[in-house]
Amino acid sequence: MDIDRISFYDDFKCAKGDCAETCCRGWSILADEEALARYRGEKGLLGLRLKLALRGKEDVQLNAGRGTCSFYTRDGLCGLQKARGEDYPPLTCQVYPRRRKHFGPRAEETLDLSCVEAARLFLAAPDLSWKRVREEVSYGRHGSNTDEAYFAALLRTREELLGVLGQAAEDIRGREAAEAMRVLSEAFAKMLLLAGRWQSNAASGRDLFAEEGAGEEQHAETWFPLPVTILNDWVNGCLYHEDLKRRIPFFYRLLSYYMKRFDGLDERKGQMRLDRLLKEFVKKDAFRAEKYLHYAKSELFRFYTETYEDYSFLNRIRCMVMHTNLLLLFDALFADETGALTAAEEARIIAVYEKRARHSAQMEKNMLQAWLAREGTVPYR
Ligand code: SF4
Repeated sequence: MDIDRISFYDDFKCAKGDCAETCCRGWSILADEEALARYRGEKGLLGLRLKLALRGKEDVQLNAGRGTCSFYTRDGLCGLQKARGEDYPPLTCQVYPRRRKHFGPRAEETLDLSCVEAARLFLAAPDLSWKRVREEVSYGRHGSNTDEAYFAALLRTREELLGVLGQAAEDIRGREAAEAMRVLSEAFAKMLLLAGRWQSNAASGRDLFAEEGAGEEQHAETWFPLPVTILNDWVNGCLYHEDLKRRIPFFYRLLSYYMKRFDGLDERKGQMRLDRLLKEFVKKDAFRAEKYLHYAKSELFRFYTETYEDYSFLNRIRCMVMHTNLLLLFDALFADETGALTAAEEARIIAVYEKRARHSAQMEKNMLQAWLAREGTVPYR
């Protein structure tokens, strides 16, 4: 089978004990059926430890309360792997941070940026591209859609969207930061319009590329940055949770700093403060418009083919706009609080953000709903 791999896929190497944000903490670590069968057959002390560790709904979770995995060792390694080898931990742990999707005609393999080392490789990659290999795949087909003509059309739409970002990359070269942000905002507007047209065409059974698809009316004057009202809804209403202090402390610190700066402000004052925060940030060397463009592009590489299942062109691009805006906000908050933003911190911010916001379909759904509740009513600047 033809497999398209993100260019830096093969460079991944787990940082193990040196990892600043281990994947063995902060979210649910679940044992799959095959792993459970192995664990239930285990005797002796390891068997007892497994029996005691498996908790949660239906006793399949290895880390109670989404805290640290019971088998995480002092040296930052996996105790299950150490005891019984690489094939012994749950399949998700064996595969992470690799994302592998097989759609029938071909497969795509990328890295999950909730892994800080994958995020570091992503930031260091000069551009995103696929590397084509021909191999057998060991994993099952993703989703249930078998309409290969639609899949081919979907890939064509992605090329068109990547073309919009490619043009934006050319246009921001040599521009001042504020001007570069405007270019990105316009690229997002164009992508939303295209996605709206394709969605409308798909819903009414027209050819996907027919010109007449109306697309959905869009309201914002700027898509990058978005207004403080919606950022506030996402931070306070969706992302914040007191429990993050224990589970993902680095992200909790970013959220707390947002609250310190923005809580209690009315909309006008909040917007003024956001404008100032971003203005200061874009003045600093740490701001790189290319990075946000790179991140938006990675959304198309990693998540766009989900549209094969749900035909939700528009929501996919809305998510791209939403996550890119929040990354900008958290970068700016970090730089404001500490006075700097190194490449290692950038990678860590991406990793903790993705861990919180990208790993639950419900979280993304809630964030989109919060946004849609605002669309058309929010007084954009
Ligand atoms: S987050 Fe990535 S680098 Fe860190 S322990 Fe997990 S796989 Fe390794």
